[in-house]
Amino acid sequence: MSKFTSDYMITMKDIVKEGSPILRQVTEEVELPLSKEDKDTLICMMQFLKNSQDPVISKKYGLRAGVGLSANQIGLNKRMFVVYFTDEKGVLHEYTMINPKIISTSTSMTYLPQSEGCLSVDREIVGFVPRYERVKVKAIDIEGKEFTIRFKKFPAIVFQHEMDHLNGIMFYDRINQDNPFKLPENVDINSL
Ligand SMILES: [Zn+2]
Repeated sequence: MSKFTSDYMITMKDIVKEGSPILRQVTEEVELPLSKEDKDTLICMMQFLKNSQDPVISKKYGLRAGVGLSANQIGLNKRMFVVYFTDEKGVLHEYTMINPKIISTSTSMTYLPQSEGCLSVDREIVGFVPRYERVKVKAIDIEGKEFTIRFKKFPAIVFQHEMDHLNGIMFYDRINQDNPFKLPENVDINSL
């Protein structure tokens, strides 16, 4: 049994840090129909993101603010993650994604001018992380229903960051090793 029951509170001690092998492996498909255990884990993961953005709770428990969390970041070898954030237009994005697949991407790309951050990385990393500007995605939600969704700009970046986790990729793998501020050539790429 996983300890991540729906009333368990994830704190920073549960977050797997870089260097751990589970962050470097391609995670396994979640078995469907979704088990109660997996569902509870996802509820628990989503609650962590909400807590981490709550000024009072995050301070009390020393939580770093996060907008996404993948199952392998809490040590589980499963293709599922949660995202929770408000975008630049003030729209709330709250998604649970099980066995997500990218259906299509834009040719244009984007990046965060201040690089990306990760709950599993405690050091500061500089450099641009090129991401597709838009992605179309298919996944299973927490009720076990398949859905298709399009993300663009910041939400697309968050999605691709989490999707990378499921494939054992860290955001800094995508930063140019010779010059961290060098962008891919012959690509329409603009800062977010
Ligand atoms: Zn991350």
